[in-house]
Amino acid sequence: MDKKFKFVGVNSIKFNRQFKDDTSCYEYLASLKWMDGTFECKRCKYSKFYKGKKPFSRRCLKCKYDESPTAGTMFDKCKFSLLIAFHIAFKISTKKKGMSSLELSHEFELRQPTCWEFKWKIQQAMQSSKLHPLEGEVHVDEFFIGGPEEQKRGRSKGNKRLVVVALEKVKEGVGRAYAQIIEQASSEEFKPFFKTYIQKEANVITDEWVGYLPLKKEF
Ligand SMILES: [Zn+2]
Repeated sequence: MDKKFKFVGVNSIKFNRQFKDDTSCYEYLASLKWMDGTFECKRCKYSKFYKGKKPFSRRCLKCKYDESPTAGTMFDKCKFSLLIAFHIAFKISTKKKGMSSLELSHEFELRQPTCWEFKWKIQQAMQSSKLHPLEGEVHVDEFFIGGPEEQKRGRSKGNKRLVVVALEKVKEGVGRAYAQIIEQASSEEFKPFFKTYIQKEANVITDEWVGYLPLKKEF
């Protein structure tokens, strides 16, 4: 899976609006794969291409290798439609308790072993994305979600959830991001989050909240 492939910060309304058919999913993967518009043939490294035969694929002008946006990702050789694959990935990555392959097979009308196999691929991809912590300029902030108004910490949170978010700033705006639900904005909770998702060399920018202070030495 491309390390930039994330559903972080996307709620189900936005998700359903953006990914309504296979075409929009292919288009999204293509936009991540060839983000800056450049192309390099997997086979011969040539940089010129023309439109391939598969949806949103690119075909090398020299050796004619046709690369699909799904090639080399967890969506490669999927046994069901890309739209369903996106929905399963969204469910698994956003549901706090996750979903069993049995639940998935009921909801998406697929065979359980098929769901089990795809779920395993997603989990592998989620694991590997942790191996690419954020670098460069990283902004960390925490806020409540789930309520009509977003509040800063310190007040009663009701049934809202507190989330810490780390965003990587890149030239074009915001790069990769990681988010995690936390109980309190304490340094004990921030520490594992920082350690997992942010490179030590990164330039971390936070507000003045005391929870961040003990992390100053390390990050
Ligand atoms: Zn080629």
